[in-house]
Amino acid sequence: MQAPETDLHETPQDLIDMEAAIELLKTTRPTFYRWLRSGRIKGMKVGRQWRFYPEDIERFLKGQGPRVDLPLDIAPLNAQLISALGSEPEDLRALEGIEKTVRLILRLAQTTQASHLHLESLYQSEGETQGVLRLRHESGLTPVLTCDRRYLPALISQFKSLAGCDPLNQETPQEGQFSDLSGPENIRLRAHFLPALLGESLTLTLLKPDQQISLDMLKLRPSVDLALKNALKQGWGLIITSGPTGSGKTTTLYAALQEVASATVKSIALESPVERVFPWVVSVQTESESGESFVGPLKSLMQSDPDVILIGELRDTETVEMALRIGLTGHLVLTQLHCENAIQGLLRLVDLTGSAYTVTEAVKLVLNQRLLRRNCPACLHQVVLSKSQVQSFEPLFAKAGKSLKVGTQLQQGKGCPACQGTGYRGRLQITEALPMDPALSQLLHQDAEAGEIAKKLKQTGWSNWLEDGLERVLAGESSLDELARVAGLL
Ligand SMILES: [Zn+2]
Repeated sequence: MQAPETDLHETPQDLIDMEAAIELLKTTRPTFYRWLRSGRIKGMKVGRQWRFYPEDIERFLKGQGPRVDLPLDIAPLNAQLISALGSEPEDLRALEGIEKTVRLILRLAQTTQASHLHLESLYQSEGETQGVLRLRHESGLTPVLTCDRRYLPALISQFKSLAGCDPLNQETPQEGQFSDLSGPENIRLRAHFLPALLGESLTLTLLKPDQQISLDMLKLRPSVDLALKNALKQGWGLIITSGPTGSGKTTTLYAALQEVASATVKSIALESPVERVFPWVVSVQTESESGESFVGPLKSLMQSDPDVILIGELRDTETVEMALRIGLTGHLVLTQLHCENAIQGLLRLVDLTGSAYTVTEAVKLVLNQRLLRRNCPACLHQVVLSKSQVQSFEPLFAKAGKSLKVGTQLQQGKGCPACQGTGYRGRLQITEALPMDPALSQLLHQDAEAGEIAKKLKQTGWSNWLEDGLERVLAGESSLDELARVAGLL
């Protein structure tokens, strides 16, 4: 027997037909068909007629993308997340299903102060592929939970909708941003979706727009703090933060920008990508993250009458030359350079431009820094330097120009729940600052080498970041192991 055209007896009461759906979406029939064919709207055939769940139409209206069918119950995953959180957050109690999963994941990242969240299918050594959620903290990347990988497509699709990305596109990398205002503090998240062999990989970077950054909060050592504030007060020329990747130079740059940006100062930040937005700063994002020069965008933003310009990074000779020119024409330029130490940073600028004159005239300060993990205050205990330790740290002491004796008392974290057993909590910056002055200028004009400059500086009582680090270790703020690790001397 042939099936009747429609069998309304089998249609659940709450389904709506196509005419009603088109009416709800205020669209035309051809457009609606296009959405349906491309999978943007989820529908089902009942006999020969299309029928729709109101929830799917609502999702489309909200731009949330179609629902993804979960092949298995999500409740156990939510229970796992709640257990990782310690208890169920009061405000998420009313949520259900995958919406709850997404919020629980975000809450976990937020309450543990993670900087990044990674969710992806990974091949496990036991020969099984599983979904893995990992969080990055100061102490490194930690797996938080593993789950059935079949949860992931639906979860990643949810995150794509949140981030304004296309949930149907699983073939090309996508990037987006969204805010989570539900947690204890507002956070902004940058999402990156990467197609991979075992399924898409999601990386979230947690940005905290409400978190204040100021120079005073950085607690730089007094001489460096003073040099930086003096250079900022001059109001023109280049202030350069430098160091390797992950040394906190962007944070210092932002703090410096916060110090000068105000209602009476036109400040523009040119970055790729924009990490965060500040009061009284016009943030401009350049198109590409893949090493594109800042020169083009810089040329056009100079038309907008700026006083202070933050340039994400001095990546190429053209940008260096342009930044120096801008500095020389009475603008304050805050920027960063990837280099080993402040002296080498200056020499590199001279080398790139071929002009010691331009560099000594335009540059006001080069700051170089590293990040040290801070001893956890909750499990701090006293350690006595042994003979073998003195021997193994000898290269470090030599480089910092100090010698520590056997029996020297130091403090160190033992490892406790508050620091996830690492002995460290939070970070501190160790720094060196090289302000331009007549003596340094003369050395650069004379083509002096790094060693000679360092020697001359030493005679004036100048000390480098490693010496700052050793001071901090002796003051109980960090450990010898940590300093040796950061200095690459372990
Ligand atoms: Zn601890």
